[in-house]
Amino acid sequence: MTTERHRCTNRPPVGTRHHPHASDDPTPDTWDVRPNGDRVCSHCTSMHPDDFAALALKACGDAAYGIEYTQFPWRLSVFQPGVDSDSEGAKRFHRWHAPANPRPDETANISLAIHLTRGRKIAAAKASFDA
Ligand SMILES: [Zn+2]
Repeated sequence: MTTERHRCTNRPPVGTRHHPHASDDPTPDTWDVRPNGDRVCSHCTSMHPDDFAALALKACGDAAYGIEYTQFPWRLSVFQPGVDSDSEGAKRFHRWHAPANPRPDETANISLAIHLTRGRKIAAAKASFDA
């Protein structure tokens, strides 16, 4: 299932294509809806920024949700119940899909979610180490 069209901001700007398969279509991409309702960029598989903000809010109060840094500075990994593969829901958020003017409360939620996720992982690792 597909929703509104957009141009992934990881693509080169229209008129500057340097790759034979790069599109000059201003809206070549779609937000594809996964079975759990997540919208995912058809070009880069990033979660939709609004869905990412909603997941961050959930992760602040529910350990079943989480956001982590990855080895790639442009990518955050997300996890949520019932999503083990890309075909089930979003697994990542790419920074080029971040809004130009993010809402301060959403930015705070994302930072807190990352902090809490890291703390939960450390606590779980410590508990298993002490067991
Ligand atoms: Zn994208």
